[in-house]
Amino acid sequence: MLKSMALQLQSQLSGLDIDVSVEEIEKRLDSLINKYKVSEDEAKRTVKNYFLNKNNPSGFRTLDSELVKINDIKTEGRWIDIHAKVVQLWDNEHESISQVGLIGDETGVIKFVSWARSNLPKVQENKSYEFKNLVTDFWNGRYSLKMNQNSQIIELDEDKDIEVGTTEVEMIGAVVSIQEGSGLIKRCPVCNRALINESCGEHGSVEGKSDIRVKAVFDDGKQAHDILLNAEVTEKITGITLKKAEKASVFEGGIVDEIKSALLGRYFKVKGPKLGRYVLVDEIIRCDLKGELNGILGRF
Ligand SMILES: [Zn+2]
Repeated sequence: MLKSMALQLQSQLSGLDIDVSVEEIEKRLDSLINKYKVSEDEAKRTVKNYFLNKNNPSGFRTLDSELVKINDIKTEGRWIDIHAKVVQLWDNEHESISQVGLIGDETGVIKFVSWARSNLPKVQENKSYEFKNLVTDFWNGRYSLKMNQNSQIIELDEDKDIEVGTTEVEMIGAVVSIQEGSGLIKRCPVCNRALINESCGEHGSVEGKSDIRVKAVFDDGKQAHDILLNAEVTEKITGITLKKAEKASVFEGGIVDEIKSALLGRYFKVKGPKLGRYVLVDEIIRCDLKGELNGILGRF
């Protein structure tokens, strides 16, 4: 069986002007399949890529990457292409990273990292792209995608805009922690990224526009969830308007203290789409009275 796979690969490679012995191909397939328990398809792809790269004197990697859906990413170290929309760009304080965040397609969302040294074009939130030659990675029980020097990012036309499939979450529990980055923040007027030390990672020193948000940890009794409240939702549940936050910002921590006293240790029912590790809360209702809480719990 390995022999016939090897022969097949050999003929594919010779079609690309690469001459390799069947024995050498077979040895690599054997090691991947029998020693490292890699699937046959994956082993074939890996061996093919190995010889393609080895025999490419220009140094430019010719890759045999495959167009996949996010939900189908179940192997690490695999070269893939995907069509996805940038759902969220995360705050990034690491110099080695150009951009980090979430991209999504109809089947789900996945974290991506673009390294500074790869010099790839920057992506923008809510825009759809064709991403080519990304590598899958696996860490802490989750898959992610790494962009690298061989990756390509091509913006898709608006009529090819991608609808991101999300999971709607509804849960009851308590806010157990208010995270750093909550309260009054400044965003870059160009890319909307939160500024760090009044500077955007991409656009440098800019006149930021104000925004308020809450990043918190929500415990539903079974597990902790990261939740994110935008300005509108924050105002609804805390009564803190952007105007008020801007006035209060002269007192260090003033707004954060107010957010804490409104939310911390209190019970809520929250609802919203789960994107990666964050639940983007679009509805939050206080569960004040014991009876009310029991009433809601009773319906579950
Ligand atoms: Zn910016």
